[in-house]
Amino acid sequence: MKIKEKNEEYYKEHIGFLITLVPSYSLYEINKFFSEDLLVRGHLILISGLNTDDTTFLSDYKIDSTRYYEEQKHLTNTYIKAMISDKDRTSDPDFNFIRTLMEKELIDIYKRQKCLLPPTYFPAGVCAPGMRRLFVSPEGTFYMCERVGYHLPIGDIDNGIEITKVRNIISDYIILFDENCANCWSLCLCKHCFSSARKGENLSMDKRKEICEIQKNSIHNNLVLYMTILEKNPQSFDYMKEIKIS
Ligand code: SF4
Ligand code: SF4
Repeated sequence: MKIKEKNEEYYKEHIGFLITLVPSYSLYEINKFFSEDLLVRGHLILISGLNTDDTTFLSDYKIDSTRYYEEQKHLTNTYIKAMISDKDRTSDPDFNFIRTLMEKELIDIYKRQKCLLPPTYFPAGVCAPGMRRLFVSPEGTFYMCERVGYHLPIGDIDNGIEITKVRNIISDYIILFDENCANCWSLCLCKHCFSSARKGENLSMDKRKEICEIQKNSIHNNLVLYMTILEKNPQSFDYMKEIKIS
């Protein structure tokens, strides 16, 4: 609020909001807030979900997801209608939250590699641990990132990144995923990485099976949404050409 009062122009151009959806939330209410409140209306927003690893939050609070799915369905229909109409809604502040909610995975589909897979393929979602991000504990231990949290250490402030630890983590990951991924139809769009394959202190085969099913269902649904819109309006996603993914 203070930044806005001091420099309205700066606030408009440079301030964005990172939203973490934590049940029990209402997508309708959040959409209303980001459409109507002048403090946030029209600003860049990024949306992520709750990481349910290492928490009993959902089971403790016995969250009923029916309302969430109903709202999601309704907003998806609103999104489809808007995207197949000829009106450009990409910079419409009334549509900002819905578009951001729906668009992320559709951008990945739009930007997917459109060629035959090479003989070796590095999974799209997996980082080289320690290369771009580092999560350092107060004691000085190095971890991959905040999503992996205080698990699977890769070094510390005295010794730097320990290549053997990184190699071992990658080897364990390859054992779990290699053959399955190589034969999986969703390989080019899959976002799994060390963070989603971890259970406790290790990468886990059970967890892999569980997350693969969820991931494939989600990619399937997004492909259906993408094609539903494209069939009605083949130009709907042309604006994504200008979007750069870093
Ligand atoms: S979320 Fe996954 S890919 Fe991203 S930095 Fe963490 S471990 Fe690497
Ligand atoms: S869904 Fe599972 S098997 Fe398929 S590419 Fe992703 S991690 Fe690999």
